[in-house]
Amino acid sequence: MIVLLLVLVGLTVYFALAPSAGESAEIYLRGEKVATLPLDKNGEWSNEHIKVVVSDGKVSVTETDCPDKLCQKSGAIDQKGASIVCLPNQVVVKIAGKGEVEVIV
Ligand SMILES: [Zn+2]
Repeated sequence: MIVLLLVLVGLTVYFALAPSAGESAEIYLRGEKVATLPLDKNGEWSNEHIKVVVSDGKVSVTETDCPDKLCQKSGAIDQKGASIVCLPNQVVVKIAGKGEVEVIV
């Protein structure tokens, strides 16, 4: 029983840690998806408060007027499931990919 449990935990950790490059960056403003930027070409999305740029297959916040600048400090992301959140501007950038792997225990 303990062995089975260990195998299950091991598998879960494996899937959770398996690196997987994302395919696109989804941008949400106040919980609504406002843009999808493919990561395989350069692009950008911005409003009056924040600018999100895709460059070299990674997405990052390059300009923002929020006080803490945590979103900008998050740097560039490209792994599926990674995200950048800007609470003051209510913007979330999330990396999405095809073939979502979901492990239900
Ligand atoms: Zn921010």
